[in-house]
Amino acid sequence: MSAVEPLQQTDLFTEAIKRLDRAQEYAKVHPEAIERLKHPKSVLSVAVPVRMDDGSLRLFDGYRVRHDDTRGPTKGGIRYHPQVDMSEVKALALWMTCKCAVVGIPFGGGKGGISVNPKELSHMELERLSRGFIRQIADFIGPDTDIPAPDVYTNSRIMGWMMDEYSRIKRQKTPAVITGKPISLGGSQGRDDATGRGGYYCLKELERIRGWNPKEISIAVQGFGNAGQHFARLCHNDGYKIVAVSDSRGGIYREEGFDVPSLCYSKNVNRELKAVYCKDSVCDTVEATSITNEQLLELDVNVLAPAALENTITDVNAGRIKAPVLVELANGPVTPEADRSLEEKGSLVIPDILANAGGVTVSYFEWVQNRSGYYWTEEEVHTRLREIMSREFNAIYERMTSAKIDMRTAAYAHALDRIGEAVEAHGTSAFFGTSGRS
Ligand code: GLU
Repeated sequence: MSAVEPLQQTDLFTEAIKRLDRAQEYAKVHPEAIERLKHPKSVLSVAVPVRMDDGSLRLFDGYRVRHDDTRGPTKGGIRYHPQVDMSEVKALALWMTCKCAVVGIPFGGGKGGISVNPKELSHMELERLSRGFIRQIADFIGPDTDIPAPDVYTNSRIMGWMMDEYSRIKRQKTPAVITGKPISLGGSQGRDDATGRGGYYCLKELERIRGWNPKEISIAVQGFGNAGQHFARLCHNDGYKIVAVSDSRGGIYREEGFDVPSLCYSKNVNRELKAVYCKDSVCDTVEATSITNEQLLELDVNVLAPAALENTITDVNAGRIKAPVLVELANGPVTPEADRSLEEKGSLVIPDILANAGGVTVSYFEWVQNRSGYYWTEEEVHTRLREIMSREFNAIYERMTSAKIDMRTAAYAHALDRIGEAVEAHGTSAFFGTSGRS
């Protein structure tokens, strides 16, 4: 899923909390509640021993952070990536707190990760690592406390192993402890494409507001993993021109646009991103230009969707970004410094905590289905997801327009209002020494 290594490595959590300070003045939330959000509720750091296929022992560093549970059990994915560290996991957990509040689902934020390059592990090693991690964090998670899910380089199969391991430890089938599972183990219809679909529903709202004709709109997608592929596919179905895509090895550009199902086929079956047109599994090469990830970001397109990792657009390259609209399918792809320069240019950034919230929204649907034992159709999932994404997109867009602020600040203020309301409803006014509202 990763498409470009970050251009600079900063302390992500320190960077992430800057957004809270910025949004605070537009939200109804007590400053002490903001102060609490700057400190995760609890963090766990573990070492996971794994017996490798060659008989040797390797230890992997793993993390799980529960950032804030004011609005409900903490919720968020588990990432497998060499770059994972505690600061990154804390930042990702904070974003989850805000994301769940943005879409109004009854969860707080959490996140986990293991510092590992999963591409170097065999299938069995990956299973041992995943089960070993759950054994280490089993007392920290649970359907009413903290509910993991997939993230970068983890998938439904890994979630299935994890749920199974947890159920063995607890001697009880516990599907609601984790979401993003295979359908056969209690997963939800529509979870697989939910992140990309949520971003697509945001774009559809913008299309309506701006009166776009999709055929005239070009899109570049940086990162061709789960979110990027599904977003591109859905946009392509509606006639949007997907002119560039990339993965960790580089990108391809074609002015007329690509046939996205063919690109997905080549990427998923042949494990290679190639400029092809496929019919019945026979693929012909189409004319395209090879580009780097950096070049893709700077293309003169109508919409840019960063769908890989954080810190992709920084103060170094922000000045060269030409796309007037950005859809942040990745978490944290734009740094706070880059925010400022995009804002000066008048770019519209549909922020991550809204644009990629479709994933956790359908995770919530999965959790609800697991707990009720009654399963929904794919159509029901899509209808409910669309309703939530459109409602929240429009509320945030309206707030941005009326307060004359950027869309990210509007989204954070929207989230902070909901968190502030929950703080107040908890009746902790005595703790804060005031009514809890400013
Ligand atoms: N990892 C996804 C995210 O960053 C999904 C989290 C979830 O479904 O809990 O939003």
